[in-house]
Amino acid sequence: MIQLIRGFKDILPEESALWQHIEGISRSLFQDFGFKEIRLPILERTELFKRSIGEDTDIVEKEMYTFPDRKGDLITLRPEATASIVRSYIQHKMYAANPVRKLYTIGPMFRRERPQKGRYRQFYQINAEVLGVDSPFIDAQLILMLVKLFDRLSVTDVSTHINSLGCPACRPEFKAALSEFLSSKRDQLCENCRNRSGRNPMRVLDCKVPSCREAMTGAPVVLDYLCTDCRRHFEIVTHTLDRQKIPFKVDKHLVRGLDYYTRTAFEILTGSLGAQNAVAGGGRYDGLVKALGGPAQPAIGFAIGFDRLAEITALNNTLIEEKPELFVAAMGEESIAAAYEWVTDLCLSGIRTEIDFSGRSLKSLMKRANRLNAAHVMIVGENELKQGSVILRDMTTKEQKTISVNGLVENVKALLKDR
Ligand code: AMP
Repeated sequence: MIQLIRGFKDILPEESALWQHIEGISRSLFQDFGFKEIRLPILERTELFKRSIGEDTDIVEKEMYTFPDRKGDLITLRPEATASIVRSYIQHKMYAANPVRKLYTIGPMFRRERPQKGRYRQFYQINAEVLGVDSPFIDAQLILMLVKLFDRLSVTDVSTHINSLGCPACRPEFKAALSEFLSSKRDQLCENCRNRSGRNPMRVLDCKVPSCREAMTGAPVVLDYLCTDCRRHFEIVTHTLDRQKIPFKVDKHLVRGLDYYTRTAFEILTGSLGAQNAVAGGGRYDGLVKALGGPAQPAIGFAIGFDRLAEITALNNTLIEEKPELFVAAMGEESIAAAYEWVTDLCLSGIRTEIDFSGRSLKSLMKRANRLNAAHVMIVGENELKQGSVILRDMTTKEQKTISVNGLVENVKALLKDR
C-alpha cells in the first residue's frame, strides 16, 4: 500500500469540523478588524525566500523543499507566507493607491524539519499582516486581535510573550556587543552557531542546542540597546496592551527565527502541547518591503500554527457532532426508488438526510441509523407504501408517526422544523 510521505498528514473528516469552526471564527474576527483575504500560490521562486527569510536561517539552509522545474528554474514550496504577501503587495503595486493594507491568508506551508509530535513537514498557518502602518497602536491592535481569537475559541492555556528587536539604527551596537560576547564563548557553541556567529550573531540567540543555550546565559539583550524611537515604540505597545487588559510578559530573550524582523516581536506559547509549545508568532518587519524591491513601507504580521491551534482547541471544546437529521430506511426496489427522490428534495431544502441504497433488512438499516446517530428515521416499507404512507421515528423519544406520501417532503420538513 502506498503511504503518505513522512511528516505529512491527512486531516480526516472527523477533524475537519473543528478546522472549519476555527477558520470561521478567525475569518469573522479578522473581517471585523478590516482584514481582507488574499490567496497566494504555494510555489514561489526560491530567491524570494532566500532574500526575505535570510541565508543564515535554519529554514533556508536546510528545511526548504526546493526543486528545479523542467526548465531548470529553482522553485520552492513556501515555508511561510509573509514573503509571498510582500511579493504580491509589491508586484500589484498595492502601495500606490492605498498603501495601508490589512491582509489575511490561510493555507499550507512546507518545511523539511525533523518530524515529531506537533511538527509536520506540511503544516497549516493562519496569517494576518498589516502593511503601510508604522504606528505602535497597530502592533497593539494586532496582538489584541490574536489574543481575542484564542478567547473566542475558549483556549485558555496560552501566554503572550513580547520583545523588541530594535531597528537598523540601534542594532549594530547590539550586534557588536553580542559578537564580542560570542567570541568569548566560541568553544561552547555548536558548529552551526560557530559558523553563523561572525556573519549573523543574532541567529545564535535562537539556537535550541542545550550547550548553546547554556553558553548564552548572561548574553547582552537587545532591550538594553534600543534607540529612543524603538524604546518609545515598545512603551506605547506595552502600555496600550496594559490599558486594554491584555495579559503579556516581556520576554527579553525572545528572538524570531527569520532575519526580517524589527522592533516588536511576539509569540503565543501554550502549556498544553509539550515541546512544541509555540502556537503563534509574529512581529514587525519594517525593512522587508524595500528589501524585496518595493518602496519603504513598514509592516507587521503574525502566523498561527493551525495544526497546533486545532489540537489545543479540541482540548478545550466539545464540538457539536455533525449527525444526520434524518436517515431513510427504504426496503425493496420500489421503496428505494421513491425514497431517492424524496431524499434529494429534503437535502436541497436544507435537511441533512442520509439514505442506504443497499436494500438490506430493516434491522441492519436501523443499526446503521444508530451508528450515524441520526435524530430521526423514515421507514419506507413496501406494504406501507402501497397504503400511501411511511413511518417517521424519533430516535430519542422512540415515538412513531405515520405520514402520508402526498406532499411527503413538505410533511417531513414541517415535522422536523417544529423541533
Ligand atoms: P514561525 O513562522 O516558525 O514562527 O511559525 C509560526 C507558527 O507556525 C509556530 O508558532 C507554530 O505554531 C507553527 N509551526 C511552525 N513550524 C511548524 C511545523 N513544522 N509543524 C507544525 N506547526 C508549525
